[in-house]
Amino acid sequence: MDFNDTREEAAFRAEARAFLDKHAAQFAAPRRNETEAQYVERGKRWQKIKYENGWACLNWPKEYGGRGATPMEQIIWGQEEGRHDLPVGPFAIGLGMCGPTMIAYATEAQKREQLPLMASGEHIWCQLFSEPAGGSDLAALRTRAVRDGDDWVINGQKIWTSGAHYSDWGILVTRTDPNVPKHKGLTFFFLDMHTPGVEVKPIKQISGGANFNEVYFTDVRIPDAQRLGGVGQGWQVSITTLMNERLAVGNAGGADVDELLALARAIKLDGKPAIANAAVREKIAEWYCQTSGLKFTNYRTISALSRGQTPGPENSITKVVSAAKQQDVGSFGIDLMDMGGILMDAKKVPAQLAFQSNFLGAPGYRIAGGTDEILRNIIAERVLGLPADIRVDKNVPFNQVPSGAK
Ligand SMILES: Cc1cc2nc3c(=O)[nH]c(=O)nc-3n(C[C@H](O)[C@H](O)[C@H](O)COP(=O)(O)OP(=O)(O)OC[C@H]3O[C@@H](n4cnc5c(N)ncnc54)[C@H](O)[C@@H]3O)c2cc1C
Repeated sequence: MDFNDTREEAAFRAEARAFLDKHAAQFAAPRRNETEAQYVERGKRWQKIKYENGWACLNWPKEYGGRGATPMEQIIWGQEEGRHDLPVGPFAIGLGMCGPTMIAYATEAQKREQLPLMASGEHIWCQLFSEPAGGSDLAALRTRAVRDGDDWVINGQKIWTSGAHYSDWGILVTRTDPNVPKHKGLTFFFLDMHTPGVEVKPIKQISGGANFNEVYFTDVRIPDAQRLGGVGQGWQVSITTLMNERLAVGNAGGADVDELLALARAIKLDGKPAIANAAVREKIAEWYCQTSGLKFTNYRTISALSRGQTPGPENSITKVVSAAKQQDVGSFGIDLMDMGGILMDAKKVPAQLAFQSNFLGAPGYRIAGGTDEILRNIIAERVLGLPADIRVDKNVPFNQVPSGAK
């Protein structure tokens, strides 16, 4: 493994830095002092500047609004952009998952129409997959699509749809044939979120925010032209989205060892800086080891990409470890602050609420994009070669699988 940039990569990094040095400062800021609408607006302006200068969706083809960059260039850009606190969140699902799915399955005309609007930040997209009865077991979803002439009529409910309340378009997986086993009766679409019959209801979270939603479909009509993949091929299309999701959801980020060290130096415990306490030092050392392990796991992924390989199921380790660490570091930081830890005022709390954000955000992160248990199953089955999870309904027609639903 050679961790140094090649000459070309170093030149690319310098170019990316020059762009960021010139433009990032006016958009970079912690999110805590603005409303969600202001954050999304700031994000749209940043996305537009990137698009206009050839720094949006780097690995997409140029004709769809990208740059035609290599996976390594995409990684270098991610590293450099990640050094600034930029408002990229609202676009993560659209650009990371919906765009690649459209590139793989939409018609040429649809790609040329939709993708530049996505890349420039004009349109935000969401992922309408999970349902009350179909989360980890996505193929158990029940939202029905029934063919009617050139249209499909959609009825059902999605849940946990991040950003649906500010999204313009979405990708949607539905059940079109309940008479065949669950994976075989699905069909995939994209749709305008303003189509009549689509109702978005935000869900309030413990953090105080409402980033995800319930989305109800009542007799929503989608033209057959907005189908992605064949009728009954929705599972294969979903896999494309999910593979991109696995790459997109990596390290949990948030406050980590450096922030914890700064806090432990600033806060007093028994009259001395907390860093002098052996138990505090031991905990920080433990997370330092985990952070180092994650860094080298990440280098392994980067090395695979630089050799033109696609990272495999071992990539699941990053989210399992980093999401639990994010929660533990947040909890420990709050404990160190004693009673002050329960305050939610960025001006009164050290590290601008970073530890509180970790603590409140990590439970969701441990579920989104594959729960801890599902990722452990993947590691067990596909990395370690252990016996597979039991799948009793695999070959049973969906409408004969016993369930409480009518
Ligand atoms: C912050 C956040 C954002 C999200 N954004 C979106 C989004 O934009 N679009 C979208 O479609 N969905 C989204 N989701 C939904 C997410 O994909 C699901 O919550 C997730 O797949 C888990 O499904 P579930 O909630 O139905 O839990 P379930 O699948 O019902 O799981 C419940 C519990 O059972 C465990 N479990 C389930 N199956 C197994 C098994 N085979 N072996 C061992 N344990 C198992 C799980 O690990 C979990 O602990 C989001 C979720 C969160 C938290």
